[in-house]
Amino acid sequence: MKSRTHRRALPAVLTLAVLAVAAAGPALRAGQAAPAPRVQTIVIDPGHGGLETGAKGALGNLEKDITLAIGLKLKALVERNLGLAVFMTRDRDVDVSNENRAAIANNHKAGLFISIHANGSVQRKAAGSETFFLSLNATDEETRRLAYLENNSSELQTRIDPSTEDDLMMILWDMAQTAYIKQSGRLAELVQTELDAMLGTRNRGIKQAPFKVLTGVACPAILVEAAFISNPDEERKLASDAFQSRVAEAIYRGLVRFIRAGE
Ligand SMILES: [Zn+2]
Repeated sequence: MKSRTHRRALPAVLTLAVLAVAAAGPALRAGQAAPAPRVQTIVIDPGHGGLETGAKGALGNLEKDITLAIGLKLKALVERNLGLAVFMTRDRDVDVSNENRAAIANNHKAGLFISIHANGSVQRKAAGSETFFLSLNATDEETRRLAYLENNSSELQTRIDPSTEDDLMMILWDMAQTAYIKQSGRLAELVQTELDAMLGTRNRGIKQAPFKVLTGVACPAILVEAAFISNPDEERKLASDAFQSRVAEAIYRGLVRFIRAGE
């Protein structure tokens, strides 16, 4: 999905030229999986940040703080145990646009991209963990609503953090994830299996949704909704150091299985 920024900034003729070049590129042949290169770099994306708080729990916890805490724990695990390079889309409480999150991954030639979130629902009893990979169509109505909420809060980020990247590159990146859908699905499966084993919460499975943050990423990419911040029981868990560590450990184990399978 292209942001408004792109449409505004690019003249129509240039847009057509870019699309023509892109259509001829190998990354866009539908249904063709990209080869799996050795993973050397992982980019961890703690959802939201700064003015864009993400979902807020009844007890006052903010999604942006929980995603950052889990992200930093995951970074430490990967660096300590795998010796891979790890980059964070943010390592403190700042705004980052979806475009910049993808740009950070692509500029660092990420081999894996993990976006971390906490779920929100108007149904206070909604509970459990789920892992997403990209699709332009949502798995179901509930998933469509979630993607809308996550994407929409990022619209705010785009306004307060004007993008300065090359628009031409961003259009190509917008479609970058297409070539990695199959691998992203496998990664989602492995991570979700570990979340189910480690968290002791409801397993909501793997799903597909049009999350903007995933569209421009040129490597296997997933979005983890660790638990529901809108559910007071799960909010308490999400705010605890022990649960955050378990989420990080589960994601880490999933990554290890994915990486080893590709070697
Ligand atoms: Zn979120």
